[in-house]
Amino acid sequence: MLLADRSWSDVQRGVTVVVPVGSFEQHGPHLPFDTDAVIASAVGARVADHLGAALLPSLMYGSSGEHQSFAGTVSIGAEALRLVIVELVRSLRTWAGRVVLVNGHGGNAPALAASVAQLVAEGHEVGWVPCEWISCTPDGLPWDAHAGRSETSLMLHLDPDRVDLTRAEVGNTTPVGELMAAMMAGGVAAVAPNGVLGDPTGASAEEGEVLLASMVAAALDRLGDPPHAASQERR
Ligand SMILES: [Zn+2]
Repeated sequence: MLLADRSWSDVQRGVTVVVPVGSFEQHGPHLPFDTDAVIASAVGARVADHLGAALLPSLMYGSSGEHQSFAGTVSIGAEALRLVIVELVRSLRTWAGRVVLVNGHGGNAPALAASVAQLVAEGHEVGWVPCEWISCTPDGLPWDAHAGRSETSLMLHLDPDRVDLTRAEVGNTTPVGELMAAMMAGGVAAVAPNGVLGDPTGASAEEGEVLLASMVAAALDRLGDPPHAASQERR
C-alpha cells in the first residue's frame, strides 16, 4: 500500500510502515542525483509487499558530506538526519505498529544506527536495514560502491529513461576500504574526480533485476522474515 495515495480512513492502526531513506548526491556523469532514493524505494516497496506493510515516500535528503564538492549535491548531515528519523518515527508510532527503515546510502548508516538505538531505548518497535546484497549470489555478480556497474544495473532495471550510458565513465576501481582514509580527508572527489567508485562497463537491466532480488532477500533475512519462510507458510 502506497500511503501517499490513500486517505486516513484507509489506514489501519497498528499497521507496519516501511520508510525508504535515500540521498541527493552526485552519482557520476550518467546517473541521476536521486539514485539512492530510487533503489531504497524499490527495495522498500518489495519489503512492504512481503510484510503487508504501508510504504512511505522516500526521504530524499541524507548525509552526503563526502560528495559535497560536486555541484548539485544536497546534504543535511548526520546530526540533522538523526533528528529527522527520531521525530519521524515518534510521529509514525502514534498510529503505526512496527517501523522498518530501508537505507539506500551508506553515508546515512551512522545516523540511522544512532537514531534507531535511541528509539528502541524509548520503547519503539523500529529497525533499519541497508540496501546491500548477499555477496555470494549464485552467479557471483561483482559489486562496486558508487555509480559503478551495480548501481548502473539497478537503475537500468528500475528507471532506464534516466540513465545516460553515453556519458558513463570508469572511475576509481580500488576497493573502497583502501580509499577510506583519502576520502575522509578530501571527499570522493579526491579519489574519483568524475564521482564514480567502480566501473559501469557491462551494466545491464538483467543484472539489475538479479541484484534487486538479492537485496530484497538480504533485507527480509535481516528482518527475520526470509522469503522462503513465507512461501512455506503459504503452502
Ligand atoms: Zn548510490
